[in-house]
Amino acid sequence: MSEDLFLKIIRREVPADIVYETDEVLAFRDINPQAPVHVLIIPKVHIRTIDDLESEHAELVGKLFLAARDIAGAEGLSDVGYRVVMNCNEGGGQAVFHIHLHLLGGRPFSWPPG
Ligand code: AMP
Repeated sequence: MSEDLFLKIIRREVPADIVYETDEVLAFRDINPQAPVHVLIIPKVHIRTIDDLESEHAELVGKLFLAARDIAGAEGLSDVGYRVVMNCNEGGGQAVFHIHLHLLGGRPFSWPPG
């Protein structure tokens, strides 16, 4: 999968069901949802993986989680609960190399995830 895919979504070159946007963060529904609610939350700047994060990104990463909180609230997930995941590298399940939080909700989740 192209590592530029999410940059193309940011630039509106690839369509997406966008649910949240700020100057720094974009969120849109996953094209292959793994739960009734499955939203991807991304920074608008290109950061390839968690391993590429620098200390200067700390506030931005915090904003991804604040977006997850707000979207979960808007989707009615706050009380019942939800899952937030970020995969890192192929072994961690990452397929698109532009960091993104998965916000998943609307069904039960078990732990460990398998
Ligand atoms: P990951 O495996 O953590 O890199 O997650 C990548 C996610 O991007 C997967 O859940 C895909 O279903 C999702 N995805 C791929 N292409 C698109 C797209 N065009 N629009 C929305 N989600 C996408």
